[in-house]
Amino acid sequence: MKSYYIRTFGCQMNEHDSERISGLLSKKGMQPVTDPLTADVIVVNTCCVRENADNKLYGHLGHFKPGKEANKGQKIVIAGCLAQKEGQKIAQTTPFVDVVVGTHNLHRIPELLELAENSATTVVEVIEAPDREETHFSSDLPASRKNSYSAWVTIQIGCNNSCGFCIVPAVRGPEVSRQMSEIIGEVQELARSGVREITLLGQNVNSYGRDINLADRKRGQITTIKPLFSELLKEVGSVEGIERVRFTSPHPKDLRQETVDAMATTTSVCEQLHLPLQSGSDRILSLMRRGYTTQKYLEKLNMARSQIDDLAVTTDIIVGYPSESDSDFNETLEFVAAANFDSAYTFVYSPRPNTVAAQQIDQFVKESVVAERMAKLRVVVEHSAVQRNKHRVGNKEEAMILGDSKKDSSSLTGRTRQGKLVHFKKSIATSDLKPGDFINLKIIDYSTHCLFGESL
Ligand code: SF4
Repeated sequence: MKSYYIRTFGCQMNEHDSERISGLLSKKGMQPVTDPLTADVIVVNTCCVRENADNKLYGHLGHFKPGKEANKGQKIVIAGCLAQKEGQKIAQTTPFVDVVVGTHNLHRIPELLELAENSATTVVEVIEAPDREETHFSSDLPASRKNSYSAWVTIQIGCNNSCGFCIVPAVRGPEVSRQMSEIIGEVQELARSGVREITLLGQNVNSYGRDINLADRKRGQITTIKPLFSELLKEVGSVEGIERVRFTSPHPKDLRQETVDAMATTTSVCEQLHLPLQSGSDRILSLMRRGYTTQKYLEKLNMARSQIDDLAVTTDIIVGYPSESDSDFNETLEFVAAANFDSAYTFVYSPRPNTVAAQQIDQFVKESVVAERMAKLRVVVEHSAVQRNKHRVGNKEEAMILGDSKKDSSSLTGRTRQGKLVHFKKSIATSDLKPGDFINLKIIDYSTHCLFGESL
């Protein structure tokens, strides 16, 4: 039996695509292995959102070269965002790669591998974003999922925004939403197979369905535009057997009252919201083309918090966007200090090719200044995270068990509805529990990144 090894870089969307690639190869009778040296096929599913992804990829491929030389039959496939962006360049730089495949045609990997069997050169297939009717969602492909109790479901690919720092629209194309009936069908199937938690995936989930509405309107099938994401949340949340629903990522400018209503009234939708702020300076937000001001962001945040009890909010912040001044950065610090985020993913700005911000080389902020700002921001973010975790002590919380604690074999780790990791000691009461089961815990302690509990 032939074997495959998959290495994934980047976001949950890529992780989910890798599950689908794994499903495709398994359906062809291949089996996964953990050692690339022994694999007949190596797939590298790439990301180019962060700087140096290209260098890292070529460095990484270098590790595979000796194995490939020793095993002449081995095939190497480069997939994902960087393959979409670089295409032929990968074939020229690393001719020992057998297949380069973009983000829009992952379903073609088995056929491209067959073509590579008889090809002396790298087989490259990178296509532009297809029309919505011809779009292949990776969710339509077979999947080998990492666990049996929690699953990602793609609801949309691509993005219609043009944030000044972001390469996603160039490599993932414009927004295309998957039909609601297909999504619900997949969720029902997952529930039947034992999945209890669903995370809906899209680049901008709050605009889910906008393209479907427009297409329907063009065909004269509807006259009023309905906000479809809130409908979708309610539908997914009512599938029997699904006990937790999460989603990522929403764009603040598109967070609507209807979505907050759906979150507040659909019991299975978790009290967790990731709302990427990016900067606390209106001047920088405008340069970033984010489509909101700090005031608007705050209004959305308050709307969500006032309606959803015990909501945990996380965010993304970029430090050192071109031309960011001390005063812009101080506005970010002040905003973050006041916003009470449960946690924040902080990034140093890195130029991505063909983005607006990457052209502003003369406005780039000095590395030493960025490092200093980042250190200050981390202090504020961690202080906020600690405070948010501290106020949970004494709560009774439900956790979904993930498995043994990575640091302490006498403990189990679970995830609360707010998305927080919680560790608790194993006991006779927990001996029958397995990953995916639920347990009620009393929160007894906290740290910056997690909670500690005891079973009730
Ligand atoms: S909303 Fe902005 S940051 Fe998010 S994927 Fe689209 S362009 Fe990128």
